[in-house]
Amino acid sequence: MAFSLKAVTLSLSIMASSLSFAGENVPAGDEVIAMVHKMGLASPPIAPLRGEESDGPFERLIIKNATVYDGTGAPAQGPLTIVIEGNTIVDIQGAGAAAALHVEHDDGDAKVIDAKGMYVIPGFVDTHAHLGTPSHAFAGALTDPEYVGKLWLAHGVTTIRDPGSIMGLGWTLEHKRLAEEGKIAMPRIQAYSFFPEDIVEEKEAEKWMRAIQRRGADGVKFVGGNPRGVRAAIAASLKLGMGSMAHHAQLNVAQLDARQSAELGLKSIEHWYGIPEAMFTDRTVQDYPSSYNYNNEQDRFRHAGHLWRQSAEPGSKVWNDTIEHFIELGTSMTPTFSIYDVNRDLTRAKSLPWFEDYAMPYVMRSFQANPKIHGAYHFDWTTEDEIAWKDNFSLWMQFIKDFHVAGGRVTAGSDTGFLYGLYGFGFIRELEMLQEAGLHPLEVLKVATINGAELLGLDRMTGSIEIGKRADLVIVKENPLANFKVLYGTAHSYYDFDKQQQAETTGIMYTVRDGIVFDSEMLLAQVRDLVEARKLAEAQAANAKSMSSKD
Ligand SMILES: [Zn+2]
Repeated sequence: MAFSLKAVTLSLSIMASSLSFAGENVPAGDEVIAMVHKMGLASPPIAPLRGEESDGPFERLIIKNATVYDGTGAPAQGPLTIVIEGNTIVDIQGAGAAAALHVEHDDGDAKVIDAKGMYVIPGFVDTHAHLGTPSHAFAGALTDPEYVGKLWLAHGVTTIRDPGSIMGLGWTLEHKRLAEEGKIAMPRIQAYSFFPEDIVEEKEAEKWMRAIQRRGADGVKFVGGNPRGVRAAIAASLKLGMGSMAHHAQLNVAQLDARQSAELGLKSIEHWYGIPEAMFTDRTVQDYPSSYNYNNEQDRFRHAGHLWRQSAEPGSKVWNDTIEHFIELGTSMTPTFSIYDVNRDLTRAKSLPWFEDYAMPYVMRSFQANPKIHGAYHFDWTTEDEIAWKDNFSLWMQFIKDFHVAGGRVTAGSDTGFLYGLYGFGFIRELEMLQEAGLHPLEVLKVATINGAELLGLDRMTGSIEIGKRADLVIVKENPLANFKVLYGTAHSYYDFDKQQQAETTGIMYTVRDGIVFDSEMLLAQVRDLVEARKLAEAQAANAKSMSSKD
């Protein structure tokens, strides 16, 4: 989701109109969170040290008898034995031509996981994953990073890219460091900093880019922004060897669309904005009605639902040339389909089965229609809006499918924390929607693993199951490629004909990150406890308040 600095300012000016933010000296990358601090809210505590939900890394860890999808697009192979020393895969036995040899190995005193009948896939790379958002503060609290990290790991996510590090660059980098050191239950983090929209001058943009790099940022995230500043920042990112990602907000897209930013060297296009605009054939701006007001988010998202059909036809010369052009430039696409799922079926989105046990009350409240909260724009969402979005989706999915087939790099991003998207669960939904776009499940797996690792420049380290790479793995009871739904933390229900009753899948058993084995079931239990504790605390606070008002 686009977290707009202007939207924060707007919300803050409503909530705390007496405060002034001018003239403060805020470290580069902490501009958004500094405004939240000004409201009197402190950053949430850093996630606690990991505990009984995790084990290892081990001197030697052996995963035996596994059926393996290695993430490169290769079909399943098995039974294989994966040998891990510390954080690294040192051997894969039974793979390839040697499979016929059936060599038995002595396990010695290694830690052994018998994965007989189970599947092993690479750990997922979520390339659009916010470690919390200040907008939750408007619904009661800033996001708890322990809660988020555990939900991600429980769903097999071992690497994330934080678009904007909007909880503060320093705070996000602290989590990155602790995750790297194996101290907390958290995926590996790449921290991208949110480019301040008020940076206009080229020199200032480059200075800011150098400042975030000195602090440890891996890249920059744009949401619109002044085109002069954005151009200079992209140029600086190339010079400094940093990543870049952009949400082309409607305010600036007429000056800089997705194609133009790609030509400047932008590495990844988030969501889809700016792509239809790059393929207009009979207009240069979106067909805005005269009543349109960008700051009314329902206007923004309602009319965005009509955008793809204002653009070039699928398969037309402009459509195909644009795809070819993006591929030549090496631009990646992170569509984040799932975060817009709500727009085509609000009732479904509001009643997802995992909310009851796994949604923090403040996260849930932040989804309810509220003009003060970003993304909470379903003020009066109609059947017609949903139909428009379904149509919009089919064109958008066609574009992503065509881009993928032509050789473009698509990655999987969940963008959860907004719009009824819940951490971890939303990533699995993204896999389902990539399949819906027409990708084979093996292609979906590749998109969700090695493609993401390539975009982040981590493909020598992670993203596939290969000797020499980090042990980032997901061990799952049922075949996830037969049905991605088995990966949901709430499991998948089916009718068991043998037992003649309703049954549930087991899903993810373990997520291994850097050789550390996380027990998915235990992670989920801990998350349920965190949610329960928060609900209790809120109920007690409400009680105390009503008692004192009676005095
Ligand atoms: Zn986002």
